[in-house]
This record gives sequence, structure tokens and C-alpha cells, in this order.
Amino acid sequence: AAPLVIAVSTSISAKQGLLIRNRANFEGARKLNAVVFDKTGTLTKGEFGVTNIVPREGCSEDDVLTWAASLEQNSEHPIAAGIVSSANEKGFELKKIEEFESITGKGIEGKIQGEKVNVVSPGYIDNSNMDYDKNQFDKLSGEGKTVVFVLLNDELIGMIALADMVQETAKEAVASLKEKGVESIMLTGDNEKVANWVAKKLDINEVYAEVLPDDKANQVKTIKGKGWEVAMTGDGVNDAPALATADLGIAIGAGTDVAMESADVVLVKSNPNDVVSLMELSGKTYRKMV
Ligand code: ADP
Ligand code: MG
Repeated sequence: AAPLVIAVSTSISAKQGLLIRNRANFEGARKLNAVVFDKTGTLTKGEFGVTNIVPREGCSEDDVLTWAASLEQNSEHPIAAGIVSSANEKGFELKKIEEFESITGKGIEGKIQGEKVNVVSPGYIDNSNMDYDKNQFDKLSGEGKTVVFVLLNDELIGMIALADMVQETAKEAVASLKEKGVESIMLTGDNEKVANWVAKKLDINEVYAEVLPDDKANQVKTIKGKGWEVAMTGDGVNDAPALATADLGIAIGAGTDVAMESADVVLVKSNPNDVVSLMELSGKTYRKMV
């Protein structure tokens, strides 16, 4: 009878918007006791809007935004979309990029009109020992805003703060998982203050921030090593190694192709609550077979 049960569950899963790419790993979903979530684009909508521009003395807000947006034209990160649309709304003309490179998990770098331009994370700034308005930074990130720094020829010209929105369905997902005795853990490349702000809203107690892509996978390995049966849920290129490492890799449908190719299950509706649905479906499907 087993093949019939599987066939039925396949059509149920399709209706629910669960695309199952690896049956063997999906089978184990009923035994999960920890789910690791990426933050941006998974627990949050991943739609950033610029809320503040803080230029360094002697620089203008417009200049900071123009340099940043010009470079961000080449990036696919959700932060880039927020910065570029803010410049577009203001009718700014963007400059042409001569060179462009991503600095994994830390930002972007390029050349525009012969000048070196960077848009980077707080971690990058700390590593290079640059001075910045720490009070302003603490205030903005304490409000849950993601702050990036704009550099011109390796000198800081200002910071840009962006706000994202928590997904209401993420809150439901975390609560339902808790009811099942499943722990929710957050893993993000973003700053610790922002991560904690989102975690608090969602009632997540375990948070790892400023984690680089390879370290996301290592973190999942560590959790597995403690004997947990762990799922990883993510949307980005930077989540792909962790998705492949987890007992069950779950990609968000609205995410990148790389994430989906590394995942065992795709949540077609991009709804974190479907993590709960898939655990339940796995339970119903495979309990009948033993
Ligand atoms: P996440 O886990 O939130 O998806 P990422 O690993 O993609 O994080 O990025 C980590 C950090 O690197 C971001 O929070 C940001 O500070 C910086 N960053 C990455 N890409 C960009 C970009 N295109 N522009 C500016 N900053 C970026
Ligand atoms: Mg993400």
C-alpha cells in the first residue's frame, strides 16, 4: 500500500504548495526537533525601504545615496533593491559602474568614474577599524533597522538605514513549532542588534548573528552534532551550503534559484507556516507505512 500513500501525499503536498524534491529527507521531517531560520527574506519579507541617511560631516545625504545606489544597481541583495528604489523615487541619475564585485556576506565593492566605492556591513567597518557615529548606529540598529556603510576611496561618507517587515506567518510558525516541542533558531548575516530585535518579536530564543555563508553550514553541523534532527529554512545564495548540510533543507519559493536547487523541499507560497504543514504531512504519510 505504501506507493499509493505516497502518490496521495504527493498530490496533497502539491495542493498545499510544498514542492518535494527529495523524498528520503522529507520522510524524516516528522522527526525534526529543531528548525533553523535565516532572517532576511525568510522570517522577514526581505523588502527593504530606506528610512535614514546619515552623511559624515562635509558630505550630503544626496551624495551618499547616489554613490550607494549607483553601485547597488549590480547587486541582487534585497538591501540593494531598497537603496536603488529610494534613489529612483527621488529622481536621481545613477552613475555607470566600471567594476563590480561582491564581498561574500559583507557587501559590495566597485569602481565608478575612477573612484573606489563600497557599500558594506558593520562587521566590515569594525574589521577595518574605521571611525563612525556609534551612538547613531546603536540607535538605528536598536530599532531593528539594517545599517550599511558607504565608502568612497576607503573613506566613510555615511550610513544608510533600512527597515524590513517581520512576516506575521513567521510568528505563527514559531509558536506552532514550540507547541510540537520543536526549537526555532535564527541564523543571519545581519547585525546582532537587528537580529535580536526580530527574534524578540517572534519569540525566538536562540540567535546567531553576523554569520558568514560557510559558517551557516558549520553552525547547522554543530547543531546536528548535538544529536538534533535539524531543518534549515532559507532563501538566499548564502543559505545554500546550510540547506545542503541540514537533515532537511527547506527553501522559500520566492528566494534564489541556488537556494531551491540545494533544498529538499520548496515552500511554493513562501509561507514559513508551511514548515509546520510539511512536518504534519510527513507524519501522516510515513506513519502509515511502518
Ligand atoms: P542575510 O543572512 O541577512 O541574508 P547576507 O549574508 O546576505 O545576510 O549579508 C550580510 C550582511 O552583508 C548584510 O546584512 C549587509 O550588512 C551586508 N551586505 C550584503 N550584501 C550587501 C549589499 N548588496 N549592499 C550592502 N550591504 C550588503
Ligand atoms: Mg535571506
